[in-house]
Amino acid sequence: MEKIVITGGAGFIGSHLCEALLNRGYQVLCVDNLITGSEKNLESFKGNSNFEFKNLDVTRDQIDCSGASYIFHLASPASPVDYQKHPEETALANSLGTINLLKEAVKAKARFLMASTSEVYGDPKEHPQKETYWGNVNSYGPRSCYDEGKRFAETMVYIYRQKYDLDTRIVRIFNTYGPRMQKDDGRVVSNFINQALEQKPLTIYGEGKQTRSFCFVSDLVEGLMKLMFTEGLKGEVVNLGNPEEYTMLSLAEKIKAITGSSSEIVFKDIPADDPKQRCPDISKAKTLLGWEPRIKVDEGLVKTIEYFRSA
Ligand code: NAD
Ligand code: UDP
Repeated sequence: MEKIVITGGAGFIGSHLCEALLNRGYQVLCVDNLITGSEKNLESFKGNSNFEFKNLDVTRDQIDCSGASYIFHLASPASPVDYQKHPEETALANSLGTINLLKEAVKAKARFLMASTSEVYGDPKEHPQKETYWGNVNSYGPRSCYDEGKRFAETMVYIYRQKYDLDTRIVRIFNTYGPRMQKDDGRVVSNFINQALEQKPLTIYGEGKQTRSFCFVSDLVEGLMKLMFTEGLKGEVVNLGNPEEYTMLSLAEKIKAITGSSSEIVFKDIPADDPKQRCPDISKAKTLLGWEPRIKVDEGLVKTIEYFRSA
């Protein structure tokens, strides 16, 4: 049975990935320091004899990956509220943490997948964003710990790919949502749903004309596994996300309609460096992986709303 290490495995995406890999019969070692994740996310599968959880910090502890064939490196705070609360930890998880895991991958001769982000494109001047776009990113601002942390991590992956001929893959994940998001992570989907369910005002930052594209977590996890397990993709960088694009105003209205909420919509200041538009070009994922999202936003929102209703 093949062994897989997942850093950040107790987080939102990581826990779904652990579960999907266990369901496929892999042995999973989940490493997480629980800075933004939770052992609660592991509840439904922690009794599986193929699963092991270790509370370790990728920036400080040695993560023993011996015997592992694959390493998914997801450890990093990810929501703007979380990474701005923990800027140093975020920059370090992506810099030092990535270097530490790359060294482990070389030792174990494991295939290495790094979770990057659409944030490497910053406030993009090209739309939709293709993998070839270099981005428009502020190196000195509130989002830099994350954006530049991920850009540095990509560079380290490139170096290890060249220097050690490591089998690496980089996924640039676009906004993903679904069950096990934290209620207070400050992301737009969790905020709007919880505000709507509690009949509180839905808080739009700015005029609500900025756009995002939302991928349901099961689709994303399917894409992560395809990128890792498809042969012949050494060194590839691939966008994964749902290209259906919404303004934040239309998302607020959609969530109000699905929840049947009578909440009002209020407008607050837009945060610094908030990207105005974001939408993935997923033609590369379609061609290389035969992947595209299957869950429509309305369907995914219903599942996420059910989760928060019962959480
Ligand atoms: P999350 O915060 O729920 O999960 C991240 C996990 O990493 C948490 O469990 C956290 O405790 C852990 N972690 C952080 N620093 C660590 C450290 N030093 N050592 C060990 N564990 C550490 O976030 P998520 O949404 O599940 O994101 C997972 C990955 O996907 C991240 O790398 C993120 O940057 C990337 N990503 C997510 C999205 C999204 O929309 N959710 C978009 C783009 C990229
Ligand atoms: N946003 C909003 N209201 C909220 C939370 C977020 O209008 O309560 C906006 C935010 O300014 C951004 C978009 O929604 O333009 C997506 O924010 P999120 O934090 O989910 O992710 P980002 O794509 O910015 O990393």
